[in-house]
Amino acid sequence: MPALSDVVAALEALWPAGRAEPWDAVGTVCGDPDARVERVLFAVDPVREVVDEAVELGADLLVTHHPLYLRGTSTVSAGTFKGRVVHTLIKNDVALHVAHTNADRADPGVSDALAGALGLRVTGPLVPDADAPDDPAGRRGLGRLGELDAPVPLREFADRAAASLPRTATGLRVAGDPAGEVRTAAVCGGSGDGLFDAVRAAGVDVYVTADLRHHPVSEAQQHAALAAGGRPYLIDAGHWATEWPWCEQAAAQLDAISDRNAWGLRTHVSRIVTDPWTTHSAAPTASTAGPPTPHASLAPTSPEQPA
Ligand SMILES: [Zn+2]
Repeated sequence: MPALSDVVAALEALWPAGRAEPWDAVGTVCGDPDARVERVLFAVDPVREVVDEAVELGADLLVTHHPLYLRGTSTVSAGTFKGRVVHTLIKNDVALHVAHTNADRADPGVSDALAGALGLRVTGPLVPDADAPDDPAGRRGLGRLGELDAPVPLREFADRAAASLPRTATGLRVAGDPAGEVRTAAVCGGSGDGLFDAVRAAGVDVYVTADLRHHPVSEAQQHAALAAGGRPYLIDAGHWATEWPWCEQAAAQLDAISDRNAWGLRTHVSRIVTDPWTTHSAAPTASTAGPPTPHASLAPTSPEQPA
């Protein structure tokens, strides 16, 4: 059975901390380097429900994509929700290790797993890493470009995405002509509205990401209508759902390392939905809802200011 330090060294080789964004907080959050590791749980978020699952499972190590403390702290008091996570982990001998933006840009990375879930053949990164002499093939970077074997209408592509990604309360949001043909795609697990320029430059049919906001989407759609025949279409598939496929990919990577080293690790992937949205209320159908205007009591009394 390997020590935590052995397993962390293997994780560090997959996702070197030095490749994380400067603002990020990756690496080992808690855990004794000499502790033995047998069971490892992978999850997107280090939240209470996931930590409880790790304890129940008897996991020795929890690996999450999102950091517990992104901005640093001066307290791990169990009176705070993050401090309570730290207490629960330490009391139950569960180590926590984070691979965030270093896992995003890795080869394979978070967006490779997303592309795979969507049935896309990856052709390269959306934004390749600059100055990476140790990556001569240029496979590392943010987001991925990919293509389908055969074109499908946007509606079918979105339905397939909804069926293959983990289910959330809110589902997918789609912008574009449902009948429009989709063959090429850009994908970025997590918040991807900062990559619109690269997506446009790539000339793809659809962009799948999450956390898309009104103004970037509105402007991207207006630009697309004017300049590019309505493309790229946009799909917001939810932050957690677009990053969850990485957990399965990462667990398989650690399994392979365990096999090579005869470590006998037992890896697990959390199936707890930690998407923070819990309910979706669909609008009534057009036949019963009347004209598509806001109800008088909900209509703004003055024009909304863009934010
Ligand atoms: Zn994320």
